[in-house]
Amino acid sequence: MNQQRVRRIQKGETGPGPVVYWMSRDQRAEENWALLHAQQQALARQAPLTVVFTLAPEFLSAQPRHYRFLLAGLQETARQLAAKNIPLVVLSGDPPTTLAEYLGRLPCSLLVTDFDPLKPKQAWKRALLSAVTVPVDEVDAHNVVPCWVASTKQEFGAYTLRPKLRRLLADFTESYPELLRHPFGDTAGADGTAGIIAEATPEVPDYPGMNPGSTAAQRQLRCFLDEKLAAYDDSRNDPAQNGQSDLSPYLHFGQLSAQRVFLEIVQAGPLRQSQEAFLEELIVRRELADNFCHYNPDYDNSKGFPAWAQETLKKHRDDRRPLLYDAVELAEARTHDPAWNAAQWQMVETGKMHGYMRMYWAKKILEWTSDPDTALTVAIALNNRYSLDGRDPNGYAGVAWSIGGVHDRPWSERAIFGKIRYMNAAGLRRKFKNLDAYINRFNGNVNAASAPPS
Ligand SMILES: Cc1cc2nc3c(=O)[nH]c(=O)nc-3n(C[C@H](O)[C@H](O)[C@H](O)COP(=O)(O)OP(=O)(O)OC[C@H]3O[C@@H](n4cnc5c(N)ncnc54)[C@H](O)[C@@H]3O)c2cc1C
Repeated sequence: MNQQRVRRIQKGETGPGPVVYWMSRDQRAEENWALLHAQQQALARQAPLTVVFTLAPEFLSAQPRHYRFLLAGLQETARQLAAKNIPLVVLSGDPPTTLAEYLGRLPCSLLVTDFDPLKPKQAWKRALLSAVTVPVDEVDAHNVVPCWVASTKQEFGAYTLRPKLRRLLADFTESYPELLRHPFGDTAGADGTAGIIAEATPEVPDYPGMNPGSTAAQRQLRCFLDEKLAAYDDSRNDPAQNGQSDLSPYLHFGQLSAQRVFLEIVQAGPLRQSQEAFLEELIVRRELADNFCHYNPDYDNSKGFPAWAQETLKKHRDDRRPLLYDAVELAEARTHDPAWNAAQWQMVETGKMHGYMRMYWAKKILEWTSDPDTALTVAIALNNRYSLDGRDPNGYAGVAWSIGGVHDRPWSERAIFGKIRYMNAAGLRRKFKNLDAYINRFNGNVNAASAPPS
């Protein structure tokens, strides 16, 4: 494994106990560089290996259905780990507090954790580091090129990050070694894990067609590669077609490795336009979002917008808004615009909004709320609350792109938007002749989501 993927974030004193992997963003047993690093370290020390997951009671407005998806995935991960003689321990409560208590009882020789640029996760990590004295390694198991290696600063846009990633990809796409059956320690202490997970799992319905867990993720990937990838470039933008991969929930919860997806695509043969277009999203856009959140502490407020965008939005802040909706009207999809309402309903009912509609949806929130700060707050809140893949750097970057020109350039000036790229309903209709099929499918009927694609 390329050691640049690992960074020691605390030197610390080595204890006599196991190596502990604090699993957080990358919730899978297979193809997880953080877990593989932890195992390598445990083998070198002839020590047991334990995985700990800290279940926070609240995380950025996550809803019971999101917890259900997470916990069902974790149940499968626990089984896969047990088969390798690696216990999974689930701790409920404030993550740094419960983990520090746990490590107080079980002084580990090394703590390994995965990387997440979002502020709450960074704060957990800081609080933990101040409470424990063990050495701590952080491993970027989420990005194909580790975030801190890809770039050491906030990038202006895809055009500045893309060449850096291209240069580095070969260094970070080695095949994954197998997770070994761990020869030290035993899983007896983790007997209660399945029960703890089951007890914590909310009794709410799953989102239609979104089965949680690594096996379901692999199935979804296979189905996309076999049935949809060839037409991806033509179909992905049209909301009436089901042309996207639907992999984002699995990638978000780390039930699937982005590097695995990359390897499947490049190993299948020469890259054609659709493969290139998909890798641009999967690698460049996704890692650009992590870069934005990692290097810009204002990723969730308007101070994070580029200077030209802040200036133009300020100039147009007091422009008259002919239509205004409050957060409840927006959440309940009670606007005059059937396409926007359909997008909102799609997100509420299926846990996922079509990618093209996400841009339109956020831009209309800028147009229909009192000012850009309110727009940003409302868009982030709705996205985090209703999207299964929300609470993710991609969401923060997507909203900041739509409302605040992040990773974009100035366009011609107009009311409210200033120089922020504009989108309107007429343009949507011109681009997608079949828009009514999408609108009819997600028209506010709670059963609409289970209808077959038109
Ligand atoms: C306002 C707004 C909000 C968004 N919120 C989220 C969010 O909460 N979570 C989320 O994962 N994505 C978000 N995106 C980005 C993008 O729309 C989704 O990643 C994509 O639609 C997910 O569906 P998919 O997996 O079927 O995508 P596909 O088109 O099949 O793409 C494959 C993968 O590439 C990555 N990807 C695709 N488009 C983007 C993009 N524009 N930026 C970054 N990565 C991308 C994702 O990991 C995605 O799973 C948002 C975009 C906007 C404009």
